Amino acid sequence: MSKKAKVTVIGSSSMDLVVTSSKRPGAGETVLGESFKTVPGGKGANQAVAAARLGAEVTMIGRVGDDHYGKIILDNFKQNGVIVDYVEPVTDMESGTAHIILAEGDNSIVFVKAANDEVTPAYVEQTVEVIKNSDIVLIQQEIPEETVEHVAALCSELGVPLMLNPAPARPVSDELIEKAAYITPNEHEAKIIFDGASVHDSLRKYPNKLLVTEGKNGVRFYDGAEEILVPSYAVEAVDTTGAGDTFNAAFAVALAEGKSLQDSIKFANRAASLSVMKFGAQGGMPTRDEVEANL
Ligand code: ATP
Repeated sequence: MSKKAKVTVIGSSSMDLVVTSSKRPGAGETVLGESFKTVPGGKGANQAVAAARLGAEVTMIGRVGDDHYGKIILDNFKQNGVIVDYVEPVTDMESGTAHIILAEGDNSIVFVKAANDEVTPAYVEQTVEVIKNSDIVLIQQEIPEETVEHVAALCSELGVPLMLNPAPARPVSDELIEKAAYITPNEHEAKIIFDGASVHDSLRKYPNKLLVTEGKNGVRFYDGAEEILVPSYAVEAVDTTGAGDTFNAAFAVALAEGKSLQDSIKFANRAASLSVMKFGAQGGMPTRDEVEANL
């Protein structure tokens, strides 16, 4: 490895409460489920864990609740080597939770942000030193919109590259797009953030900045002269949950280490393709050695 990348992730963490059931309950209905488990999740946390497994020095900036789940979320960060000095429990508040039903071949999710809403601009202001010393900052949209805007302004002022993974999608301001160094929606998110414009038109507008992920096909971007599709790797997909999170983390780590844009995408495609071969978002995230052995 050329140098240990310093990656800061500003975002959500949650406990995912997952039930499997053969039937999805309708309104007012009770059904018997088959299994239940709890696993740490949240896009911010997933990306932090993925980046740490890939060998980066990762600092998470987020909030958990002052509750049982908050302790488990913090333990999980520590077990994965993520620095948690800036994941401060919020007094008298619950941790974020995702209530997931896996039924009839699809999932339904209710996400309760809870403590994640306390990742405010004022909270982030207390972490300016960390941000300043980062090679790259990675942010998603499960925290307040004003915080994302604030971080974008802060990073551009400090000259630290910001990667915006605009998920879940919402329309974003021109200013935010301009201030981000990289924007990484999937195809569906790209349509929402660019007001329904075609992916091809959006790519042309933001050369070497906008990267649209296309699942097993790979990643598309425009290099200023032509549109390029960097293909992903053919694998036996078992569970694609968290593929996007692994892609974003790996892409950030590679860029922070000084790899070229195309090499970074290739590295991230490899990491993300390995992640879909195992169950769970964090469960499938590969280590550095696993990615390099397969590049
Ligand atoms: P998710 O919400 O499932 O985490 P996403 O919708 O944000 O993912 P995708 O575009 O589906 O993002 O996937 C992100 C990246 O993961 C792809 O660009 C690709 O590199 C990799 N990937 C996803 N699915 C597969 C697959 N079946 N085979 C190989 N690579 C895959």
